[in-house]
Amino acid sequence: MSEEKSLNFIEEIIEEDLKTGKYKSILTRFPPEPNGYLHIGHAKSICLNFGLGIKYGGKTNLRFDDTNPVTEETEYVESIKDDIRWLGFTWAQELYTSDYFGKLYQFAVDLVKKGLAYVDDSTAEEIAAMKGTPTEPGKENKYRNRSIEENLALFAEMKAGKYKDGEKVLRAKIDMKHTNMLMRDPIIYRIKHAHHHRTADEWCIYPMYDFAHGQSDSIEQITHSICTLEFVPHRELYDWLIEKLEIYPSHQYEFARLNMTYTVMSKRKLLQLVYEGHVNGWDDPRMPTLSAFRRKGYTPGSIRTFCEKIGVAKRENFIDLGLLEFCLREELNLTALRVMAVLDPVKLIITNYEEGKTEELYSENGPDENMGKRKLHFGKELWIEREDFMEVPVKKWFRLAPGTMVRLKSAYIIKCENFIKDADGNIKEVHCSYIPESKSGSDTSGIAVKGTIHWVSAAHAINAEVRLYDRLFTSENPLAEEGDFKDTINKNSLQVISNAYVEPSLQDADFEKRYQFIRKGYFYLDKDATPGKLVFNRTVTLKDAWAKEVKKN
Ligand code: ATP
Ligand code: MG
Repeated sequence: MSEEKSLNFIEEIIEEDLKTGKYKSILTRFPPEPNGYLHIGHAKSICLNFGLGIKYGGKTNLRFDDTNPVTEETEYVESIKDDIRWLGFTWAQELYTSDYFGKLYQFAVDLVKKGLAYVDDSTAEEIAAMKGTPTEPGKENKYRNRSIEENLALFAEMKAGKYKDGEKVLRAKIDMKHTNMLMRDPIIYRIKHAHHHRTADEWCIYPMYDFAHGQSDSIEQITHSICTLEFVPHRELYDWLIEKLEIYPSHQYEFARLNMTYTVMSKRKLLQLVYEGHVNGWDDPRMPTLSAFRRKGYTPGSIRTFCEKIGVAKRENFIDLGLLEFCLREELNLTALRVMAVLDPVKLIITNYEEGKTEELYSENGPDENMGKRKLHFGKELWIEREDFMEVPVKKWFRLAPGTMVRLKSAYIIKCENFIKDADGNIKEVHCSYIPESKSGSDTSGIAVKGTIHWVSAAHAINAEVRLYDRLFTSENPLAEEGDFKDTINKNSLQVISNAYVEPSLQDADFEKRYQFIRKGYFYLDKDATPGKLVFNRTVTLKDAWAKEVKKN
């Protein structure tokens, strides 16, 4: 791969538009419907829209596409704003489609006056039945030939609340035989007596997506309206409405949505997971939402890098979650504070170390010298990882076993002398002697050991809860499985360790700091932590399966 990045197809279009003077500057928008929390797929759209604004010295609006009063909530509006800010982007204007309800209504009236829209009394079933199929034309019904005056009066009555939900709709009068089914007199307004999160009870008719979206783009004078591929067939209607209404000609461009393995990426599906209790809320770290990634310890930079790497194309595909983890590790490897934490503790006693003595040792905070050093406490009793001792070692075992030597990270070389088991046969204590001359930084022992293990001082360590996460689904593509997508939920996606021991420096953990628990992965303070109880999430493991894959290829 060459370092120089070629332009994606949207950048090519924009550069051409700027060169030919079609536009002096560009205006894009990110148009979420506030009916759920943003997921990693939305990040792709955010990075693209805001990224173009930045790259070409233009602007990007945040527009809440709030035309469906039933599913939208203010909580979602706030979370969406938080997520965009967290990703590092600033919108030019915060706008709401609902602010245009008056203008949109007027546009609809204009269409009626041009003889291009009519009120239809048919039921949803009747409309569907007369729509035809991709291979059969649709049929015109008797309402289609209502006079302009009658349509104006009926539409005004719809607005005034004279009719019940579903009793009437307003349809664009295009062509019931059109090869594009979406052009067969699409519904543009429906009756819905529902409370709206912003306009309250002012309206009982609401515009349909296809009517509101392009018109909102036009009202804001969006130059490049970028959406996902499923809207390709809608573009014809988008252009038709703008042309007939003779309003500012925004243009729609479509790119492939982001799909990722081992998760689902639709707000409706995610809502089910939350409301049926399969996860503990929208920001449960196993969710693919941005708030979940943030809570788990992902950085906004890693998500932006990921979106850049996956690029913008016109073909749908699945991206491996491993690529996102790779981007994250690349960043955390350089920035995370190195600390020691023991997740599955077993006691280690240094037999020849003085009882009650404490030594202060120093250890690097990270790979960069400028990150400084921190103080460690060393004593006679330590906690080490249970898996770092083996009673009967396997071949090439470089950790502790009877008679073997290892280095305790940033401390001394020790030699395993003995061990004690409890009544159940589990290792209870490992007894070692230490080599006083082998202190890290001033080692004169001349002893070379192959293994280094992490540890914490039993007298100083703090108890912490550590949460380890695995993928939420066992299937690569849960939606492609037979049956319900929730059948493939991974029952072991959360492991809670309540008795981990961490070094005392972690008492200062906050949401600004990211840690590498040496040999164990990257970790981040969870919002459930309290002054008396540390709780950490494993952000990602150290293992870098993706990088190995990449190197192989
Ligand atoms: P969902 O099905 O998850 O609700 P949506 O497309 O209905 O997704 P919107 O709130 O309407 O959600 O989306 C806002 C913007 O984000 C749209 O422009 C949409 O095209 C884009 N978007 C949504 N999902 C993805 C995705 N997986 N990849 C890229 N862009 C996406
Ligand atoms: Mg949507």
